[in-house]
Amino acid sequence: MRKNEEKIKIIRSSLALQKNSKKMLAQGKSIGLVPTMGALHKGHVSLIKKSVKDNDITIVSIFVNPVQFGANEDFAKYPRRLLADAKLCGEAGASIVFAPQPNDMYPFPLQTFVHNPALESLYCGAYRPGHFAGVLSVVAKLFNIAAPSKAYFGEKDFQQLHLIRKMACDLNFPVKIIGAKTIREKNGLAMSSRNEYLSLEERVAAGSIYAGFLAAKKLHGQGVVSVAKLKSVVKEIIERASGKVQYVEIVNKNDLMPVRAKVLKKAVVLVACHFGKTRLIDHVEL
Ligand code: AMP
Repeated sequence: MRKNEEKIKIIRSSLALQKNSKKMLAQGKSIGLVPTMGALHKGHVSLIKKSVKDNDITIVSIFVNPVQFGANEDFAKYPRRLLADAKLCGEAGASIVFAPQPNDMYPFPLQTFVHNPALESLYCGAYRPGHFAGVLSVVAKLFNIAAPSKAYFGEKDFQQLHLIRKMACDLNFPVKIIGAKTIREKNGLAMSSRNEYLSLEERVAAGSIYAGFLAAKKLHGQGVVSVAKLKSVVKEIIERASGKVQYVEIVNKNDLMPVRAKVLKKAVVLVACHFGKTRLIDHVEL
């Protein structure tokens, strides 16, 4: 057993974590925060390891945040396995798991939300009303509770990462936002806690998202700049594998605004689609 695995501390109360962080900061220790919803996989572990490398103390929050789920979404069935997750966090070198209950984070119904009206209703936001306000609000709370100087998020949730960077900048959070590359399965499927919902066949078929991305990247590399053409190639490959595409969009990498006709600057393809009942999202830079 490694040292940290023995020492991993699970803190359940936000007040206790806030006090602990205050103490750590007074001792001159730097704090890294990795916010997650648990059911940890190699993608999460890559974020934790980055934080462990950069900071004296790494806090991994594990909280399935009710405020970011719609009424008909998977809040109730989202996988929860705190002890296995805490073990993984310890093995990756984290110091603290913060695992509050909803009534600790929300002793009263939340009335104060962080919004980004320009971006919260685009792309995923169009299909998940209220989702990004829920995410931004809980991340703002976590920043105030954990007091990190750095916080780690996956590029996998590309729109989310952009919104969090914008929030930290717009609202002067003293936190550096660090993005990390998407970790994928062998067939290219981005790792996700929701992959557990997929049947074996669906998991294989969902490799088509990445295959679509590779095809679009290849075409773009050959000089194809038509947004319509690049989008349709991704859509067709996913649909051929029985995926149901919710949206394929090509957006500017810097401001996430849609690219209308031709890809002439750094751009990213965003996709949301269903395999069976499972909704998956992914992105690739062209
Ligand atoms: P989640 O538990 O799904 O809310 O994710 C917690 C954090 O891990 C978010 O910042 C995600 O973007 C990040 N993440 C999720 N999947 C991956 C992955 N496959 N590779 C890298 N980061 C990921």
